[in-house]
Formats: sequence, C-alpha cells, structure tokens
Amino acid sequence: MEVSGQHSRLRIRWPITALCAVLMTACSAPATIEPPAQISNETVDAHILYLSSDALKGRDPFSEDMAVAEDYIAEQFRAAGLSEFAEFPGFKNEFSFEYIPRRDPDAVPTTYDLQNIIGYIEGTDPALKDEYILFGAHHDHLGVRGEEEDNIYNGADDNATGTTAVIALAQYFAKVHNNKRSLIFATFTAEERGLIGSRHLAANLPIGADQLVCMINFEMIGKPAADGSWNLMYLGPEKSTLDEIFMEALDDDSPVTLVGPEEHQVRYFNGSDNVAFYAEGFITTTLASPNSTDDEYYHRPNDHYEFLNVDYMSDVIRAVVDITEPLVSGEATPVKTEEGGI
Ligand SMILES: [Zn+2]
Repeated sequence: MEVSGQHSRLRIRWPITALCAVLMTACSAPATIEPPAQISNETVDAHILYLSSDALKGRDPFSEDMAVAEDYIAEQFRAAGLSEFAEFPGFKNEFSFEYIPRRDPDAVPTTYDLQNIIGYIEGTDPALKDEYILFGAHHDHLGVRGEEEDNIYNGADDNATGTTAVIALAQYFAKVHNNKRSLIFATFTAEERGLIGSRHLAANLPIGADQLVCMINFEMIGKPAADGSWNLMYLGPEKSTLDEIFMEALDDDSPVTLVGPEEHQVRYFNGSDNVAFYAEGFITTTLASPNSTDDEYYHRPNDHYEFLNVDYMSDVIRAVVDITEPLVSGEATPVKTEEGGI
C-alpha cells in the first residue's frame, strides 16, 4: 500500500516547512515527497519468517531454545534505538516463576527463569512524556510436542504475527519519533501457560500505574477474515472509549476495516495478555483478525508461515499507526465506560 493518508500528510508538513525556511528558493513546488518512514511489507515478512521458523522450535518458554527468539526481539529493539528501562537492562524483564500445571494442581512446582522483552521511546512533549501507551504481544508458543513427523508448533499466526507487529511499530515510531506521549513496546513470555509474562509485568510496571494511559495487545493478525475481508477485530468495545478513538482516527483510504466482535467472539477479550492488564485496572484491548477465533490451524503444528497473508498483516500494522495517532499525540485519552470498571 502506498502511504498517502491524511495522517501521513500531516506528519510531513513540518519538515517541508522547515526545509523551505532554510532553502527559500529551492523547494517552491515540492513534488512527490516520501513520508519520513514506512512500515514495509518486506520488513514485516522478514520478522514473521524468522520468528515462525523451525529454528526457534516453537518458542517454548520452558525450554533453552526460547532465548534465541527473545535475543532476536531485544536486538531489534536495540537496533531501532529504543531506550531501556533501568530495571530491565538489555530490554530484558527477567523473573523466576514457580509453575504448577493447571491439569495437575497438586504437583510439586517447577521453577523457571523467564523474561519479557521491553523497551520504550520517550515522548517529545515535556508534560505528555510522563504518560505511556503500551503496545504488547506474547512471543511464546507451544514448543515441540508429540512424535509426529512435524512436531514443531511454529505458532506463526499465534503469535509470531503479534510479536512482529510490536517490533515493526517500535521501528516505525523510533524512526519518526513524533510521539508526544511515551511509548512502551513489550513482548510477553508464557502466555500459553496462563498469561505468566503479562501478569508479571502488569503487576511490576517500571512506571506508576497512573502513568499508563492504555495497553494495546496484538493476537493472531496473520490472516484476513474468513470471507476474505480486510477486517481487524477490536475486543472489549463495551469497556472503554478506545474503540471510538480508533474508529474516528482510521484513515478513509485505509484498506482495513475495524470491526467489533461477533457474539461468539466477545469472550476472547479474556483470552490474551490484555486481560492481565485489565485485571490490574488498566484500559486495554486486543486487536486480532476476526479469523483468529475460528482458525482451523489454531494450536496445531501446521500454524505455519505459508498460510499467512503478509499483505493483510502489513496493512493492519500500518492501520494501527493511524488509529493510535490520537493516543500517541496526546490528543485523545480513553476512559472506561463499563459500570464499576474492573
Ligand atoms: Zn496467542
């Protein structure tokens, strides 16, 4: 997609004005001017291909292999120029967890050393930089299981796609650096084992609880809706005004349509890392493909890269830049609309 939307044009007006002031004569009739940065399909494709590859062995948080994926994400954050929280050097939020499987509640707990990956971009506005928007997604999946020939659960859609969105957005916002509010980028470990990573971070934030404006989570954004529509589902529209902010900000030219959940999809608000933050009283949503709740390869070894639609996914990530613009710029602040909040 060519980025030609309203918000993109607004963003490039400043540099042109500044340039004209300096050069005076040189740019009286600016022709086609490239936006300062774009999220390209090629970048999205490269991240998703790597994160869902067999080399990462299904990103099992309880295996040694997990560090490979986590080092990759941390390296992307470092290369993009994100800042580290002092508490999380190397972008790593390390913690140990005593795990008891849900199916065996009387088992002796096993202690695992786990880590979320987290970095931030400081806001450009002296006052608004103390307010934060958190973009998150879980990076783990189910690992290697069973004796079948293909026993690697690649978790391409679930949730290498969401992880890719967080990385691509971090790279984009670091490049344009027009965010007046500060932006946190976090990928969570062990979501599939019971939201372990997100619960840990939500309860141990490196900022004050009153500083987090909202948390936006990504889950399974790798395939269009079952009917082929370029729809993106917003979960929890009854809980806050986030959906209204998103709807109003969506570019008229965007190929993506924002939709609320159908009746059978409402419960999925409680199915991902957003709910760990919701439980701590924060305003949250999960953005997912409408296909995600009914996908035939969900939690199967053939949740593979080749079944993803990188064009759809790239358009979705670019649409997220549009719909979050009022949050990032500090023009809009969501409020809870649910009786009694949490
Ligand atoms: Zn997932």
